[in-house]
Amino acid sequence: MKLVSRSQWGARAYRTPNGATPYGRARRGVKLHYLGTAYSDRPHEQCAAYVRQLQAQHMDGNGWSDIGYSFVVCTHGYVYEGRGLKRRNSANGNTTLNDQDYAVCLLVGSSGLTKPTSAQLNGARDAIEYCRKSGPAGTWLGGHRDGYATACPGDTVYAWVKAGAPRPATTKPTPTPPKEDDVTPYELWAYKGKGEKRDAYAYLRDTEAKVDALADKVAGLEQRPLTDDQIAAIAAAVAAHPALAQAIADTLATRLKD
Ligand SMILES: [Zn+2]
Ligand SMILES: [Zn+2]
Repeated sequence: MKLVSRSQWGARAYRTPNGATPYGRARRGVKLHYLGTAYSDRPHEQCAAYVRQLQAQHMDGNGWSDIGYSFVVCTHGYVYEGRGLKRRNSANGNTTLNDQDYAVCLLVGSSGLTKPTSAQLNGARDAIEYCRKSGPAGTWLGGHRDGYATACPGDTVYAWVKAGAPRPATTKPTPTPPKEDDVTPYELWAYKGKGEKRDAYAYLRDTEAKVDALADKVAGLEQRPLTDDQIAAIAAAVAAHPALAQAIADTLATRLKD
C-alpha cells in the first residue's frame, strides 16, 4: 500500500478532545465516500495540497476537529492517512454511523472526473484491507448512502463497493516496442533526404518488417485528412521508437495534415 502519513502530507494537528476520540466498539466494516463536488484530475504532486484543502474545509468550514475521513485515496492510488486507524471519523453522517464503520474517500467528483481510475480502485482496496487487518474492521462494505440520505459515494463507486470492491483486472502487457537499432542510420538518412518524394506511410511500409508494431498503429495513414485520434495514435507510436520520432513528426507537421 502506498500510504502517505499525516506528516508526509502536511496535516494540521487535530483539535482535542473530539479529534482524538477512539472507536467505542468493533467496526463493522468500511464505508466509501466521494467528494460530491466538481473534481478534475491533477498531477500527483498536487494531491497532498488537495488533501490539506479538504482538511481545512472540514476544520474551518464545518467546524470539525479534523479531516472527516479515515483515509483519502487519490487517482494515482496513494492512500492518505486522515484520522487513520483507531480514531473515530466524522464522515458517515452521525455519531452512531461514524462509530460503526471506517470512512474511506476516493478523490472523484459528482462532475468532472466521476469515475475512479484503476490505480485508485487498487488504492481503495489497499485501504479496505488495511482497515480490516489493523483496524480491525469486519468484512461489511458499503457507501455513505447506506443508512444515510445522500448520493455519496456516487453510482460508480457504490456499485463497485457493493460488488465486493474487487481489484481491477490487470491490463494486458503492452507489446515490446521495436528497438531503435532495428532501423539503420542509412534508412533514417534516406527518409530525411527524400522527404519530398516519400511520405511517412511509404517509409513505414518499407521498414514494416522491422517496425511492424509501429506500422500497425499508422495503418490509418492512407486516409486523409487525418483525424485527431489518428494523429494521437501516431504520436504515441513514434514516441515508442525514438529514432523515428523526429523524422515522422516533421512529416506529420508539414505534409500529412492537409
Ligand atoms: Zn460521503
Ligand atoms: Zn495523487
